[in-house]
Amino acid sequence: MRLPSTQQIQTSRQALPTWDRGWYRFAKHISSPNFGVRPSADISDISLVVVHSISLPPNEFGGDQIERFFNNDLDHSEHPYFKDLEGVKVSSHFLIKRNGHLIQFVSCLDRAWHAGVSGYKGRDNCNDYSIGIELEGAEFGGKFEDIQYETLTSLCSSLICEFPIAHFAGHEHVAPGRKKDPGAGFTWDLFQKSLGLSDSFFP
Ligand SMILES: [Zn+2]
Repeated sequence: MRLPSTQQIQTSRQALPTWDRGWYRFAKHISSPNFGVRPSADISDISLVVVHSISLPPNEFGGDQIERFFNNDLDHSEHPYFKDLEGVKVSSHFLIKRNGHLIQFVSCLDRAWHAGVSGYKGRDNCNDYSIGIELEGAEFGGKFEDIQYETLTSLCSSLICEFPIAHFAGHEHVAPGRKKDPGAGFTWDLFQKSLGLSDSFFP
């Protein structure tokens, strides 16, 4: 048996990029059908990260209901709250669970359905040009886990290398009055310090 050459080894190492067509290598991939094409195919248009929080049922953590919700596979008889979600088709690019595990549902090159009616810095339809990140958590002042900030920081550090991200905002900032997540429990200062970016990136 011939041993692989140094060049072959290097080639196989290079075959594992951090990003592959908008998919992040360090996330578990559970592809959702809830997405569309972005109006601009130009990667330089992807300039906003929208941070959300979600829990299903509200304030309960640890199940797989969010994953099933983003795949239109939620059992609506399972909980009274789920009745309101019947027919609702949404997704986000990423979900960070309470234990820090990262799941990706939609390629960052595609348009996920997370922000709804929205606008930021004078431009509306944030879904067109943003990446949505859901943190598993309660939106009304609930704290998030340290490990969630760690995953969020490493993901966003990689996002700003791959895409020309100019702003990070909460759903509450892009849809004020209509949405309240991630809410007062999310520490923007901590997030900013971890990323080491200037105030101009943050709400
Ligand atoms: Zn949200």
